[in-house]
Amino acid sequence: MKIICVGWNYGSHNAELYKEEKKEPVLFLKPETSLLRENKPFYLPDFSQQVEHEAELVVRIGKMGKNIAAKFADRYIDAITIGVDFTARDLQAAAKKAGAPWDISKGFDNSAPIGEFIDKSKFADLQNINFSLSKNGNIVQSGNSREMITSIAEIVSLASKYFTLKTGDLIFTGTPSGVGKVEIGDEIKGFIEGQELLNFSVK
Ligand code: MG
Repeated sequence: MKIICVGWNYGSHNAELYKEEKKEPVLFLKPETSLLRENKPFYLPDFSQQVEHEAELVVRIGKMGKNIAAKFADRYIDAITIGVDFTARDLQAAAKKAGAPWDISKGFDNSAPIGEFIDKSKFADLQNINFSLSKNGNIVQSGNSREMITSIAEIVSLASKYFTLKTGDLIFTGTPSGVGKVEIGDEIKGFIEGQELLNFSVK
């Protein structure tokens, strides 16, 4: 399976990180080894001094597809959860400066914790889902999928233009503002519509 991620998909986050308007989303991949499941602890890697959380809605693909039209994208989605797109911001900054790929800053081991999935049928509208992330009991990020610059259907369509989507593939759909550094001892929880789906500690 593969993990496709979308960057620059919330105006609030683009404003805090880039100070400029980004209209076209960026797509990048994380390898399967980046997955962290079942609320296992996240061990801070020693190669970064600035690992930051990015809370994101995660879409699971339920059917193989290629060149999917946005209007049919719904048929290819089977479940939703919340995940964290952990980013080694110092390594990413160095890569950006060098014009080099983001891979190691975004795709390192365990950089993609994901929560328990909720069946898509439980949501009346995928573009109206509230989600949030707490650190040590304080909400640090919250958003609603309606704030996405590129909608979930458009992301599925765009991604499937380049990558054949397969059953079980995951798409991280971008982060709202509030990204921040994690430290050893932090307790991270992720929620969709107030329901806790993710809960892990940083070690
Ligand atoms: Mg992200």
